[in-house]
Amino acid sequence: MDMKSGPTLNLNKKELAFEQGPIRPPSEARSLLLRVTRNCPWNQCLFCRTYKKKKFSLRTVEEIKQDIQTAREIADEIISISFKLGSGGRADDRVISHIFGQSGYGECFRGITMWLYYGTGACFLQDADNLIMKAEDMVEVLRFLKEKFPEITRVTSYSRSRTIIRKSVESLKEIRKAGLNRIHIGLETGYDPLLRFIKKGVTAAQHVEAGIKVKEAGMEVSEYVMPGLGGQEMWVEHAVKTAKVLNQINPDFIRFRSLRVLPVAGLYKKMTEGSFTRQDDDMVVEEIKLFLETLDGITSMITSDHITNLLEEITGRLPEDKEKMLDVIKKYQELPDPERLIYRVGRRGGAYRSTDDLTFDLSTYGKIQNLIEDIRSKQGPDGVEKFITEMADRYI
Ligand code: SF4
Repeated sequence: MDMKSGPTLNLNKKELAFEQGPIRPPSEARSLLLRVTRNCPWNQCLFCRTYKKKKFSLRTVEEIKQDIQTAREIADEIISISFKLGSGGRADDRVISHIFGQSGYGECFRGITMWLYYGTGACFLQDADNLIMKAEDMVEVLRFLKEKFPEITRVTSYSRSRTIIRKSVESLKEIRKAGLNRIHIGLETGYDPLLRFIKKGVTAAQHVEAGIKVKEAGMEVSEYVMPGLGGQEMWVEHAVKTAKVLNQINPDFIRFRSLRVLPVAGLYKKMTEGSFTRQDDDMVVEEIKLFLETLDGITSMITSDHITNLLEEITGRLPEDKEKMLDVIKKYQELPDPERLIYRVGRRGGAYRSTDDLTFDLSTYGKIQNLIEDIRSKQGPDGVEKFITEMADRYI
């Protein structure tokens, strides 16, 4: 069926929408996104700009339920369109080209179409610290979500360690029973002086307590670590102490999200004042090596799924894949200087995902080589580093 002659839709339905927050973890790219709180109640971390100048607010249970109801109506509408198009209720290619090809369908319609298409059964609750809600409110929201979307099998959320430790294991268990399966925590570092320096508002001991509590409640815990955060001043302690904190938690997931310092972030000011010195890519790789070597006695899954990471192949299950992950680093470090530079430019520009790409795609290799020469001749040797930084910063 031609798009123009597709099923006609009540305009009011086409305009159905619910509130969305600004971000989600990379691992939730195929999840249904529902906003249960707005922004971040802490909003002080020096490296973070996501919610700057935005005020935190709780949403009422009624507001959230209304959004869930709207999401259900949109999903039902898409299923009904699919039947009319002859796709039997499935969100397939035909349904996608209908929704994306017609004007008038908003972001929520498109998002739910893709969610149905992927069929992950996953839902991510936005924004930064949802366990700040009263436990009974969270339970009510989760129960309503389950009632409206019985097909959802995994619900995840961000929360801060400081917030988690204020909840009892019993109330976390209630939340788990109502359907919340996984908490993503921005651990960033396990080194107390660095936690203070970046104004994380939490101690290493509190990170450990929170991680253990989430696990005790039967939820999965996913800890975000920030390579580069210690700068040239604290990188060794950052790597070692962070690994030691994680050794005590044994989280289900350890995820790398490498530091980027944008001019709007407070850390940028520290950099210009001289109290923080950024590491270059090679220094951060050495730091990750030390971090991996210090991890011990745990069974976590490590992922480098964030675009800010230079080596996304540092991925695997501990302990069996530890050597494989260290080999990824060794392979990068053994590249001759010009090739490491070509890889960095290619990776930051989105052309490379592995150092193997250097040999597989000789045409891209040649183009990057010419580009480096060109930048050097016009801007001098610092020009290439500046170019790499600008390319990498585009992603955040
Ligand atoms: S707690 Fe998270 S969202 Fe809030 S300021 Fe810190 S890094 Fe940003």
